[in-house]
Amino acid sequence: APHGVPLLQVDKARKQFGGLVAVNDISFEVKAGEIIGLIGPNGAGKSTMFNLVTGVLPTTSGEIRFRIGDRMERINGLESRQIVRQGIARTFQHVRLIPTMSVLENVAIGAHLRGMHNDVTGIATSIARLNVNEEKALLLEARRQLERVGMGHLLYEEAGNLALGQQRILEIARALCCDPILLLLDEPAAGLRYKEKQALAELLKKLKGEGMSILLVEHDMDFVMNLTDRLVVMEFGTKIAEGLPAEVQQNEAVLEAYLGG
Ligand code: ADP
Ligand code: MG
Repeated sequence: APHGVPLLQVDKARKQFGGLVAVNDISFEVKAGEIIGLIGPNGAGKSTMFNLVTGVLPTTSGEIRFRIGDRMERINGLESRQIVRQGIARTFQHVRLIPTMSVLENVAIGAHLRGMHNDVTGIATSIARLNVNEEKALLLEARRQLERVGMGHLLYEEAGNLALGQQRILEIARALCCDPILLLLDEPAAGLRYKEKQALAELLKKLKGEGMSILLVEHDMDFVMNLTDRLVVMEFGTKIAEGLPAEVQQNEAVLEAYLGG
């Protein structure tokens, strides 16, 4: 999509778990070429928001639209795998990989599943069903994406031996195999050391430079400050602020939410 046109529109999205309103009529937009930060304290509803956008959970009400060709079309109600095919790929808050398999195999599996499954069950059988050419194509794509994220030298390393920062980047490579237009990353920097955070930020800037749009959930405000174009701030399911990072950082409601006000 051309730079700056609306890509994702979240329009009064709501999610209730019984009496708990985890996402309370939230609206925001991601434009093509932007990196948007979705921030807020633990329990704010950020991961639930991701689950609504990616079809992992049904919305209680509201609409989520995504650019398909030159039209904005409703995607809530579609299945996860259909949403992935429309161009939205994600990573999860907790690393999901098979520690005893190689980096390359872990990414190839993701390329194969293309978001069809949220866990690793059934992988062995689905891999066994591939023919030689399909397997070759998958491994090639996995290698291409690992090289793109700077992990081309670690293809045959056991995934379980990687540092956490590299595991997170492996997961980004896996999401990239879905050929996304919009990448959703759930706390990719959580638990990383300073150097790893810097490397991750550099990678995200590189992807943005290649035209990728990114929606990033983050708990740590410092990480998003120099990386994002705009921030959307949630607290207890509600949007409490939105704007440029420097503006949001000064916002009183945001400061209060972060200080545990
Ligand atoms: P965040 O990612 O911002 O930390 P979450 O979206 O994980 O927040 O959670 C928001 C709220 O919704 C929390 O109170 C959490 O306990 C609740 N919640 C999340 N998922 C479920 C679920 N599947 N069932 C019931 N409550 C849930
Ligand atoms: Mg979360």
